Amino acid sequence: MSTSTLTPDPDAPAPEPLADQDTPAVHEAVFSLELTQDQKDIRDWVHGFAADVVRPAAHEWDEKEQTPWPIIEEAAKIGLYSFEGLAQFFADPSGLTLPIVNEELFWGDAGIGMSIMGTGLAVASIFGQGTPEQIGHWIPRCFGTPDEVKVAAFCSSEPNAGSDVSAVRTRARFDEAAGEWVLNGQKAWATNGGISDVHVVIATVDPELGSRGHAAFVVPMSEAQGISQGTKVSKHGLRASHTADVFLDDCRVPADYVLGGRDRLQERIARVREGKRSSSQAAMQTFEASRPTVGAQALGIARAAYEYALEYAKEREQFGRKIIENQAVAFTLARMKLEIDAARLLVWRASWMGRNAHRFENAEGSMSKLKAGEVAVWVTERAIQILGGNGYTREYPVERWHRDAKIYDIFEGTAEIQQLVIARAISGLQIR
Ligand SMILES: Cc1cc2nc3c(=O)[nH]c(=O)nc-3n(C[C@H](O)[C@H](O)[C@H](O)COP(=O)(O)OP(=O)(O)OC[C@H]3O[C@@H](n4cnc5c(N)ncnc54)[C@H](O)[C@@H]3O)c2cc1C
Repeated sequence: MSTSTLTPDPDAPAPEPLADQDTPAVHEAVFSLELTQDQKDIRDWVHGFAADVVRPAAHEWDEKEQTPWPIIEEAAKIGLYSFEGLAQFFADPSGLTLPIVNEELFWGDAGIGMSIMGTGLAVASIFGQGTPEQIGHWIPRCFGTPDEVKVAAFCSSEPNAGSDVSAVRTRARFDEAAGEWVLNGQKAWATNGGISDVHVVIATVDPELGSRGHAAFVVPMSEAQGISQGTKVSKHGLRASHTADVFLDDCRVPADYVLGGRDRLQERIARVREGKRSSSQAAMQTFEASRPTVGAQALGIARAAYEYALEYAKEREQFGRKIIENQAVAFTLARMKLEIDAARLLVWRASWMGRNAHRFENAEGSMSKLKAGEVAVWVTERAIQILGGNGYTREYPVERWHRDAKIYDIFEGTAEIQQLVIARAISGLQIR
C-alpha cells in the first residue's frame, strides 16, 4: 500500500458523522469487547462469591489438604455449582461467560476453584461423547443436589500414559454372557478420583489401535463393584483439590455405560480396522475447545497475584519512598498487567472460536492455554519478588498462588505438548 492512501486529502469532503448507534449498518460492522449486562452481572456475582467465601477460606483448605465440601455446598446452594449453572455459562453465544466465571472463581483460590470446577472434566466428556439419554441421565448425577452434593472425576492418565494418551492400558472387555463391560487397570492423578460417584474412565477396547481403540465408560462408585481409590497424592499446589489413583479390578458396568453406546463404538472400531478415517480429529477439536477454560483459571491466579503485588508496592517503603516509585518495580508491574491482558485476549479468542464452531486452524485453544499457564507462573513468581521476604512466607498468599500456578504448565497437556500441537497445526507436519 502506498503511503498516499494513508494521508488524508485536504480537498476531500468532510466525512459523514458516524451513524447513530441504533442504525442497522453500524450493528453489522461492530467488533466489540464490551461485555453485555448479563456477562457483567455473572462476573460480579462470581467475584462476590470468590471474594466473600472462597478467598477467606483459601489458606485453611490449602493447609488441610482436604476437599472443601462446605464451600462446594455453598456454591451449589447459590447455583454456581450445578448442571443448570454450567449450562447457562456455556449457552452464552459469545463463548466468554465460561472463561469469565473461571477467571473470577480462581482469582478467589485455585485449589477451591478446582474442587468446584473439577467435575467439569467428566461433564465435558459425557456432553461431548454421550447419547442424549446418557447426557440427561449422567450429567445431573455428576453434581448431585444442593442437599446431597456430588463431584465427578475424569480418569484418563495412567502411571505410564500421561502426555502419551495412546499408551493407556486400562482394558475394557465385553462379557457377552453377562451383557456387561469388565474393566481392569490403574488410573493416575485423577482429580476427585475415588471421592466421586460418577467416574468417566478412558479404557482401550482394542490395544492394537492406540488411541483410536479407546472408549469412555461411566463407572459410578455407588453401583459398580471393583472400583477403588488408590493413594491420595500430596501436592505442591492446588492442595484443596483431591487428586488420587483409581484402581479398576474386574470392575463391571452394564453394556450401555459406554459413552455413545455400544453400537456406535463397534461401528467406529470396525471403520478404524478397515483403515478408514476415525473421529480422532473431532476429539482434537474438542480438546482445543476446552483449553481456553483452563487458561482462564490460570489467568485468575495471575490476576490475584498482580493485584496483590501492586497494592503492596504502593504501600511498602524502603529508602524513604514507596517501592513502586522505583522503575524496576513499576516496570515489572506494568509487564505483569500487560502479559495478563494479552493472555486474556488469546483465551477469549479461543473461547469464542470454540463456542461458534470455528476451526482451530492454528491450534488457537492450545495457544491460549500455553500462554495463560506461562503467564501465571511468571506473574506469581514476580509477585513473590515484589513482596520480598514476605512473599516467601505462608503469611502472605503469593507463595500459594505461585505453587498453584505451576500446574497450568503441566496438566491438560504440558507446555511442551501445547507447543507440539501448535507446531503441527501451523506446519501440517508430524513434528516430534
Ligand atoms: C494436580 C493434577 C491433576 C490432574 N488431574 C487429572 C485428571 O483429572 N484426569 C487425568 O486423566 N489426568 C490428570 N492429571 C494428569 C496430567 O494430565 C498429566 O500429569 C499430564 O498430562 C502430564 O503427563 P505426565 O505427568 O505423565 O508427564 P510426562 O508425559 O511423563 O511428561 C514429562 C515431561 O516430558 C515432556 N514430554 C513428554 N512427551 C514429550 C514430547 N513428545 N515432546 C516434548 N516434550 C515431551 C513433558 O512436556 C513433560 O515436561 C493431573 C495431574 C496433576 C498433577
